[in-house]
Amino acid sequence: DKAAVCKELRSMVQDAHAALADLRSRNAEEAFRKALVLLETSPAKRSQELGLSTLDVLLLLYGRALALTEIGQLEELVEAQTLLEKIKSFEERTFQCLVFYAVGKVFLRENRFSLALAQFSDSLQTVKNKITPGKLTWPLTKEIVKETQPEYLTEVLEQAIELCKFPPIPDAICRLEKCLVPLKAEIYLTDPDFKGYIRICCCESCILEYHTACWKSLKTAFSDKNEKDFLKESCFTPDCFGKICKIQLFRPTGLLKCEFVAAISKPLIPKKPKLNQKCSSPRKLKSKEEHKLTRKQHKLSFQEKQAINDEILQQMEDPATHSQQKVPFVSSVSSAWRLYRDPVLLQTSQNVELLREEKCLHVSDLAAALRPWLELDSSRGNHVAERMLNLQQEPLATLRQAVDLLLERKNRVWARVLIHLLSDCEDMNPKLSRWVIQLNNAGLNAARSFIERHAEHLEQLDLSFLLNFGPLQDAIIEKFGTRTELFSSSVTVTEHLKQAPPHDMRLFIWTLEEHRDKYLTCHQILDDYFDFSDGHCSVIKKSENENKSPMKSRGRKKKAKEPRAYYVFPGTRASTPADEQDLFEDDSLSFLHPGDPFSVPSHLREEVADFEEQYNSRRHGGHYKMILDNNPDPTKESLYDYFALILEEHGPLEAEDPLLSGELVNFPAVAQLKMQEAGGFESFLLESLRFIKIGSHVGLMKHAMCL
Ligand SMILES: [Zn+2]
Ligand SMILES: [Zn+2]
Repeated sequence: DKAAVCKELRSMVQDAHAALADLRSRNAEEAFRKALVLLETSPAKRSQELGLSTLDVLLLLYGRALALTEIGQLEELVEAQTLLEKIKSFEERTFQCLVFYAVGKVFLRENRFSLALAQFSDSLQTVKNKITPGKLTWPLTKEIVKETQPEYLTEVLEQAIELCKFPPIPDAICRLEKCLVPLKAEIYLTDPDFKGYIRICCCESCILEYHTACWKSLKTAFSDKNEKDFLKESCFTPDCFGKICKIQLFRPTGLLKCEFVAAISKPLIPKKPKLNQKCSSPRKLKSKEEHKLTRKQHKLSFQEKQAINDEILQQMEDPATHSQQKVPFVSSVSSAWRLYRDPVLLQTSQNVELLREEKCLHVSDLAAALRPWLELDSSRGNHVAERMLNLQQEPLATLRQAVDLLLERKNRVWARVLIHLLSDCEDMNPKLSRWVIQLNNAGLNAARSFIERHAEHLEQLDLSFLLNFGPLQDAIIEKFGTRTELFSSSVTVTEHLKQAPPHDMRLFIWTLEEHRDKYLTCHQILDDYFDFSDGHCSVIKKSENENKSPMKSRGRKKKAKEPRAYYVFPGTRASTPADEQDLFEDDSLSFLHPGDPFSVPSHLREEVADFEEQYNSRRHGGHYKMILDNNPDPTKESLYDYFALILEEHGPLEAEDPLLSGELVNFPAVAQLKMQEAGGFESFLLESLRFIKIGSHVGLMKHAMCL
């Protein structure tokens, strides 16, 4: 009967792989399962009698795991993971590349892109190391298992890696601070556990989304009001004065279940009248006409470009082409931003390749430095923190695993601890080193001004609770001797902080952030610190009592005492007659550092006025510019400001476009040198995160963010 069993098994395997190739995953799963059952129920060592090797058995398990993943429901995915663990336990090293690949596919099916990426990368590396099982056929058949062909596997892995690096934009992002869904805050309709979500819009254009479960828990805080009753309530965004004007509930099918809308009249913001230059002489009038004409021509070419951009956008939105195409860079940047919502996390994710290769920092050092933070998070039930804690015990753990977990958890403080540790490392990749040191110093400077600025506010809070946190306790008590001495002394925590070294100030802010639920009045200042102060090195230095909003600073006359300098290019030197002065009197250039010897050339001033109008109409748009200022050199920043103005006006341009680079020959030597150092004009621009390459054009990141 050996022949009969053999025949039965062969036909099962044939059914199984045919169904798998056909994407009839339930059929495939069933056939693989039956084949495995047949082997198990037969007398001992049956597989050997039938001429099956260990690899053959592994292939059957692997095939079933793939079929389960393809089915993609919660239960099946759990089952697939169990099977893959079982395959791992065989410790067949040539099979590991397939295991990594299959585990990656499970994560991918769950839309956990950073975890999937790590698995796919490991698989690819193993294939590159030539540790593969060699070409195999499905047991008892002549059909080749495609993934055992290195070229094929390499190709699918490279595609998968690309997808994970630039994941699609989530359909929604849960805003509950401690999101209850264990896997992730990003919501995709394709999530295996997708159960619908709610979207709340306010009249100031905030959009807040929540998992259905997270919303239910949030609602209990409002004594379980009906959704409809939230209309016209204050927006949940801390600094927003808007009222909730729309609530949409989405079903588990992704379809709109119901929608509540309320009409809310917004207070009108008076629009500032546009300033026109007064022209007196006929000569001037003529040159102005000519100027208008050239601008019209530029506008025309801009419209053409716009049409091309629209086309690209449409292609991106077309779901049929979307799934196969590589996601364009533009959308990947904005999706990364939406994913991390924090400048340091975003930059870490952008440097993740370099970080993964970095040898100077050992994972156990990182885990040790993070330990108190991880324990805190883990004590609140977070599993990622637990997994990171376990890394310290695993002798084979890599920095890369830690960085991936860190990015998965998206913890702002952990990312900054990583940067701090790296800034102490020697022999690091120079590019990485520059970035890390710059970011670390920016954090320390921001911490100092945070304490200075908010000392009064902090003084009113009971901060003693924070001293229970080990690292802060150590730092502060070190200065005082003992805990009782600290509490019996008349010096308050805040007073102590004011004299503390910047490292301690920063540690305090981090501790405050990790205990923010206890300090409700600090949410805004903490968000300002993490969103806008420490993650970049801005050249915008405004004095403390100056209002941050460009809207409100408009129209205020510049103080006569402030020095004002002009950036006049040789060759375009122009006098500034009295009738042109009013533009300058209006503080139009408030976004430039007042101490910099730069100003906008006269022929661009009208365009600047237009730009200002746009700039002010989108009040928050300016924040992106601040976040993206990763470069502290004031000369460079002023040049970037100048080119940003041009791109703002004309949209993306080729670097050689005379509109953009026509004036370069007239630039001061110091500016020329900076560009040479960067390896040319285009690379100079791209060194700043404000600019990105769109096809053959250079554009503003801000535009990409708006996509
Ligand atoms: Zn949630
Ligand atoms: Zn709002």
